[in-house]
Amino acid sequence: MSNQINSNLNIGSVENALKHIVKYLVIKKLSGDDTYIEAMKMYFLNNLSPSDIAVALGESKNVAHSVRNRVYEILNKFNAPKSPTFVRELVRIALRCIEWLEPILVRERGLYRCKVCGAWISMDRYSRTRHVAYKHANLVNRLTRTALSKAKNLVSNHEDI
Ligand SMILES: [Zn+2]
Repeated sequence: MSNQINSNLNIGSVENALKHIVKYLVIKKLSGDDTYIEAMKMYFLNNLSPSDIAVALGESKNVAHSVRNRVYEILNKFNAPKSPTFVRELVRIALRCIEWLEPILVRERGLYRCKVCGAWISMDRYSRTRHVAYKHANLVNRLTRTALSKAKNLVSNHEDI
């Protein structure tokens, strides 16, 4: 009985962690910026160091640190496992879940234009992420659910996690 409860709790914490990593990626993808998505791939799947990632992306090391911290914050919040193999597999699934998404913010005349509401947004990442996360929270949640529905197939193809 207690084993049953424990395994249910673990599944819940893994699902929650995956959901929040996917949501983070959905917001980045919609805002028209693949930098953090690429950094997540490089850090967790290709095992590159923050310095290597900074060079590869032409960014500061903060990008890799920020991605790593966000993922571990989420894992800690939901008490999900943190073994390197597990985290790598979770991130791999999260990245696959959002591959089909297209940005809603597109570069136009030195700014970004939102294809959903028509707003013009400045180039900086903070403004773009904020626009997507707050102005289009419902869309983000809907796309996160759709993205997560793809996870089931990805998991069943890799039962050796
Ligand atoms: Zn908008």
